[in-house]
Amino acid sequence: MFWADKIADEVVRKYQHVIDTGEPIIVRDEKTASGQVHVGSLRSAALHAIVADVLNDRGIKVKFLFEINDFDPMDGIPGYLDEAEYKKYMGHPLYSIPSPVEGYENFAELYGQEYVEVVGRIGFGAEVYRATELYRSGRMNDAIRAVLDKKEIIHKIYKEVSGSERAADWYPLNVVCENCGNLSATRITGWDGEMVDYTCSSDTIEWAEGCGHNGRISPFDGNASLPWKPEWAAKFMANGVHFEGGGKDHYSKGGARQVAEAISREVLEHQPPYGVFNEFFLVGGKKMSSSKGNAATAKEMTELLPPHILRLLLLKTPINRQLDFDPEGDAVPVLFDTYDRLAQKVWSGVEDDDSQVFRFAHLPEERANIPKRFLPRFSQIAFLVQMPHMDIYEEVEKMKEAPLTEEDRAEIDLRSEYAKRWLAQYAEDRFIFALQEAVPETALVLTDDQKNAIKLFADKLESLETMDGQAIHELTHQVKEESELSPKEFFTALYLLFLGKESGPKVGWFMSTLDKDFVLERLRGVV
Ligand SMILES: [Zn+2]
Repeated sequence: MFWADKIADEVVRKYQHVIDTGEPIIVRDEKTASGQVHVGSLRSAALHAIVADVLNDRGIKVKFLFEINDFDPMDGIPGYLDEAEYKKYMGHPLYSIPSPVEGYENFAELYGQEYVEVVGRIGFGAEVYRATELYRSGRMNDAIRAVLDKKEIIHKIYKEVSGSERAADWYPLNVVCENCGNLSATRITGWDGEMVDYTCSSDTIEWAEGCGHNGRISPFDGNASLPWKPEWAAKFMANGVHFEGGGKDHYSKGGARQVAEAISREVLEHQPPYGVFNEFFLVGGKKMSSSKGNAATAKEMTELLPPHILRLLLLKTPINRQLDFDPEGDAVPVLFDTYDRLAQKVWSGVEDDDSQVFRFAHLPEERANIPKRFLPRFSQIAFLVQMPHMDIYEEVEKMKEAPLTEEDRAEIDLRSEYAKRWLAQYAEDRFIFALQEAVPETALVLTDDQKNAIKLFADKLESLETMDGQAIHELTHQVKEESELSPKEFFTALYLLFLGKESGPKVGWFMSTLDKDFVLERLRGVV
């Protein structure tokens, strides 16, 4: 069963009473806007967006909320920013820090909007709100009051669930200092049911500098924010969330999720939502060189893959299994092949889990009309775009053995565009080919046996009526058998002659894209 269907079933089972009233099921996800969005966040986005999508597809009313958390403090400076310039903002809420790029209201808006754009592009869009809006609206006030009133219960939960000890006078809330604006450097020293007393000091936390101010202020309506575990619980309640999961790291024993659920039940007296974890999304085993693209950001990933293919990547692996993707290797061509396999299956009328994955890989607005079209292999398109003498439409028409439709041409254009990007920014050398204009020097190492085989091949090829891929393929087999060369020795010789490298695309197909006289001249030029 498609993993999102399984989760949706569970949501329906738990909240049938809500569905029956006609009220929406609330699905929520959030992202702290502390820097460029790492690709791993797309896994969490997929979990929530697809579950919301599946519920919606079943005719269930759904409200999918996405929070840009702009109230978290800056607790680290991303490597691509000037540390000296941003150090003074450590501990300040993100909404109060200037944007590194002009045209954005603040730091959080820059990265928050980048993320919203990225998820919008792949159809994971949601109703977006900001953490500051939530606090300032007063909807967090009840939770703030409960947390301040029952801080001892929170201390007990931290100790029992996660084994961490808090000082008896610790209040789980941070005030924004009225004097310097720091959030992390403040510490509450008293609470009388209406106002908190606080102090702003460099002693509060190692990495944030306080100003020494002592103040008294209402903790409500955006003057203060909760540390993230109590805050998670408070947001469950303030938004009336029914489904919200999170990264696997938060789901460990004694981890953030358990603490937040305990706070939700024991302090806020609120039933926490149903949730499951999403596994990690790793991009390549190795660090990418800076001159190449950086698929480690979600934004780059949406430029590397078209929306339906990226969605397929995010959907095809169960959400609780690790996803490993190396854009420099063959992962991109293989992913397109997977799409093609699912398409063939669905278009031939098979209905199973794969058809569900295929359907949801397309954006909601595309699903009613997914055109049946010829799907040329991505690896072959990636080869063709490197051969400037070839007409790609013509070559694909040969593969199809029928005239191209408008949809076929659109698919060729799409694949050509993404193949070029992949080749320019990620693909390893083994995918880069250039048809050699003369016998390359690398081909001078051929043995006599190889040369004899090539001569035999040239003679057979000459008698072929057309440069048909399958016929050429069969010739290569005849030659291999008659010459007693290993397949590797024979194919290596051919690749060296034409491409100057030891490997390449399937020989029969590759030769079929070339002019016969050119091929014969090249083959005979070496013997
Ligand atoms: Zn201060």
